[in-house]
Amino acid sequence: MTSTQPVALVTGASSGIGAATARRLAAAGYLVYGAARRADRLEELRGDGVLPLVVDLLEEASLTTAVEHIRAEAGRLDVLVNNAGYGEFGAVEDVPIAQARRQFEVNLFGLARLVQLSLPLMRAQGGGTIINVSSVAGRVAGPLGAWYHASKFALEGFSDSLRQELAPFGVRVVVVQPGAIRTEWGAHALDSARDASGAGRYSRRVDGLARGILNPHGTQRRASSPEVIAAVIERAAKARRPRTRYALGHMARVGLTARRLLSDRLMDQATSRLMG
Ligand code: NDP
Repeated sequence: MTSTQPVALVTGASSGIGAATARRLAAAGYLVYGAARRADRLEELRGDGVLPLVVDLLEEASLTTAVEHIRAEAGRLDVLVNNAGYGEFGAVEDVPIAQARRQFEVNLFGLARLVQLSLPLMRAQGGGTIINVSSVAGRVAGPLGAWYHASKFALEGFSDSLRQELAPFGVRVVVVQPGAIRTEWGAHALDSARDASGAGRYSRRVDGLARGILNPHGTQRRASSPEVIAAVIERAAKARRPRTRYALGHMARVGLTARRLLSDRLMDQATSRLMG
């Protein structure tokens, strides 16, 4: 059966930006599937009309089953919001390469696999929109975030290429670059920095992160609400000709503008100050 409503799949829907986006798209009239690993958290969205799909981006079978479920139940997929992701922090010298690979598996390859699986549906129906949630950290890099930045810088290039590949099929590709947003992301990133580099030669830098950009009482408290990002995702999802990139949220535009205008050395000084 083919849904009469437009259909959206939002990854990372158990928390933060994904939960806000899933709720918002459901309120806007989309049939929304919310995907993540934590089933109990997804169940909380049911009351807002979001259908839970337990998905682990690290598991191929989980991804194929999810898209097949949408195809069988809804018969179409209009909007894919690739939002799930996390920040693997810590010094390059300390973070085991297996964890770095896992960062790419979730933030890039899992996302790419979902794109592959969704495209036959989108092409068959004559178009769709893929919204990739990157970050200001996909353009601006600071210390102790090398693997997170690498995964988001990669997503930026991946998305530019994909946008051009899919234009002839009517599939739009949009990049969203949030600044600091109040979610569970910051606490997880700080935990990973402490696990990897909390003791030893980079510990002062980790303390700096805890006082600076990942400070739950500082930057993280001043951070924007996930609603800000959900609203722009809704706008991009509905647009016939969306912008290629949307940057917003606390410090997003200032960060990107500084990156465009300043030399690498001046940016190093600015990010070092932010990092405490
Ligand atoms: P949260 O930590 O609140 O949410 C992350 C989501 O990703 C959760 O729903 C989590 O679900 C899901 N996820 C993580 N790993 C996997 C996995 N292996 N398989 C499936 N789902 C997974 O963070 P945000 O809402 O802040 O993050 C959303 C996106 O926004 C991320 O890509 C992040 O990098 C980006 N971003 C966030 C910013 C911020 O300041 N918060 C700034 C810029 C970008 P579960 O654990 O249940 O699987």
